[in-house]
Amino acid sequence: MRSSWDLRIARASELIQTNPAVAELLNFYVRLAHLQKSVYQAVAASNQHEVGALVHHFPALLRLVQEAGSPVLKEAAAKFESASEEARIDLLAAIWQHEVESHQLPAEYEFFANALLQPFAEYLAQRTDTATEASPPICPFCGSKPQLAVLRPEGEGAKRFLLCSLCGTEWFFRRLLCPNCAEENKEKLPVFTAKEFDYVRVDACDTCRTYLKSIDLSKNGKAVPVVDELATVSLNMWAQEHNYQKVQPNLFGV
Ligand SMILES: [Zn+2]
Ligand SMILES: [Zn+2]
Repeated sequence: MRSSWDLRIARASELIQTNPAVAELLNFYVRLAHLQKSVYQAVAASNQHEVGALVHHFPALLRLVQEAGSPVLKEAAAKFESASEEARIDLLAAIWQHEVESHQLPAEYEFFANALLQPFAEYLAQRTDTATEASPPICPFCGSKPQLAVLRPEGEGAKRFLLCSLCGTEWFFRRLLCPNCAEENKEKLPVFTAKEFDYVRVDACDTCRTYLKSIDLSKNGKAVPVVDELATVSLNMWAQEHNYQKVQPNLFGV
């Protein structure tokens, strides 16, 4: 059986062919996913699961960014080179423990830390049972915000789950409920779709003006939510133009 990393890499490679507008981003993602897979394997092979151990993966990550990242990330990587090992461990620990509000750190530093924390968190989350029917607005395993929603076919319709932006945990979340402000009024929760991607929706909230993208697996069983969310950044632009803010930007800050 292929690992979930291989599935993500294969899906991204497939979408590169059909979505030239996002090929550069997806190419970078493919290389990053290979690196994340190796971090995941290193965490799985070790019996010490301390966040500080991830510090050894920074050099490979910074090299990758220098080769394939955006100009902004490259510049940040050059600055980050001079950060001490202690500062790097502090950064990892602060984000993992939710001790740093996102706006207190340069966004690019968050990218470096989250790129390594994701496979670490995913490994730990997969060993824990976090099943819940209570629709919590943040991840029941690690407390992070949802990255997107997944609609999974069930009976005649589909059941909604939220997918954690950090550890990849999926948890049940009621269909008519805003994860940001708990609005329940259907009139205030518009859903937008674009012709090009009929299986991706923008679920918005007119009360708090946020949105979350939903990947509808009942309409496209081949989609890999994290990857398809990235490949459809044009919808993010549309939502932003209509004054909706994303509940949680993805790893790449969009
Ligand atoms: Zn989580
Ligand atoms: Zn809301």
